[in-house]
Amino acid sequence: MISNKMKDLVNSSSLIRAMFEEGKRLKSIYGPDHVFDFSLGNPNVEPPEEIVSAIHEILREESPSMVHGYMNNSGYEDVREKIAAYTSDTYGTKVGKEHIVMTCGAAGGLNIVFKTLLNPDDEVIVFSPFFSEYRNYANNYNAKLVIVPSDKTSFQPDLKALEKSITEKTKAVLINSPNNPTGVIYSHDTLEKLSNIIKAKEQEYGLSISLISDEPYREIVYDGKEVPYLLKYHTNAVIVYSYSKSLSLPGERIGYLVIHPQFDNVDEVMAALNVANRILGFVNAPSLFQRVIGKTLGVKVDLSIYEKNRNVLFEHLTQLGFEALKPEGAFYLFMKSPIADDKQFCTDAKAFNLLLVPGSAFGCPGYVRLAYCISHDHIINSLPAFEKLWQTYQNN
Ligand code: PLP
Repeated sequence: MISNKMKDLVNSSSLIRAMFEEGKRLKSIYGPDHVFDFSLGNPNVEPPEEIVSAIHEILREESPSMVHGYMNNSGYEDVREKIAAYTSDTYGTKVGKEHIVMTCGAAGGLNIVFKTLLNPDDEVIVFSPFFSEYRNYANNYNAKLVIVPSDKTSFQPDLKALEKSITEKTKAVLINSPNNPTGVIYSHDTLEKLSNIIKAKEQEYGLSISLISDEPYREIVYDGKEVPYLLKYHTNAVIVYSYSKSLSLPGERIGYLVIHPQFDNVDEVMAALNVANRILGFVNAPSLFQRVIGKTLGVKVDLSIYEKNRNVLFEHLTQLGFEALKPEGAFYLFMKSPIADDKQFCTDAKAFNLLLVPGSAFGCPGYVRLAYCISHDHIINSLPAFEKLWQTYQNN
């Protein structure tokens, strides 16, 4: 009944579904407090008070036809204007409302960018480990994901490997910083070199290669770290942003993309993004939440909650002997599996009611991801289980 393409997609998403079902099963046996679910990137920090107040204020004060009506497929002009002013002030790269499209989160943003840019068989380069949905998004447009490794000590992209991987078919390079699953922020040096490589290859092949940055974790950073702003480094660039994580609003499907004013054929691309928003069925980003964002720019969630979780988990696990890089941002810890088979390690962890995601799911076997966006008490209570898990490998 269903299409062949969907059959494959349903089969390949069975791993995630199986993990979810297993979590439910374990919680029904042992109780939710005794199952330590590190598998989901669902923010546990409350959205800021200002968001709730803004919702009430808008519903009270703005006309219903304004709040609930259709608008330009790119989003309300006044909201885009405020975002353009905010990003120009904050990052020092001047953009206007005509460079912004309001999107249904980062997923919606990436899909309209891909729909706009990709022809069948075009190649999109990503660096492993990478957010697994990228494969599906490229597949939506019959494009091919080309996977380039990251350096295994720093988890910065392997730029020599990138140079070798760009071909006449490369249409885009997609990066994600702060990174899911490693928590690494791509450095100034990385962005500068990445930009130079892409520009040289554009010249060599006479191509236009877009640099796309997926940045739902931009504000979730620790120790005063900053995320370099891509538009300062590269003109043929687009940033896909989302409020799912930064304001803990994943269910509201709200984000935006900002394109460099000197992006190749910028007007044509912006017009196409607008149409893509409509014909992919998003039509426009949710209207109420566009208005909420317009009133709350600069508002932040309490990052100290994630930071506390990160510190306890990182310190405890590395003291036990697990190997990991201290996350600089996002809310994931990417840890080396003590055995080569990361899937087996996740199965072993389940025996102690620890739910982890194998690195293979991110194109990086031999590692596991822990999402530490869960309650601090839960993290503390999970530590003895990690100790027992570690012990099982010391006795063998
Ligand atoms: N990109 C990355 C790297 C993510 O981790 C996620 C969600 O986990 C998304 C995109 C999708 O985010 P959104 O909810 O904004 O669509």
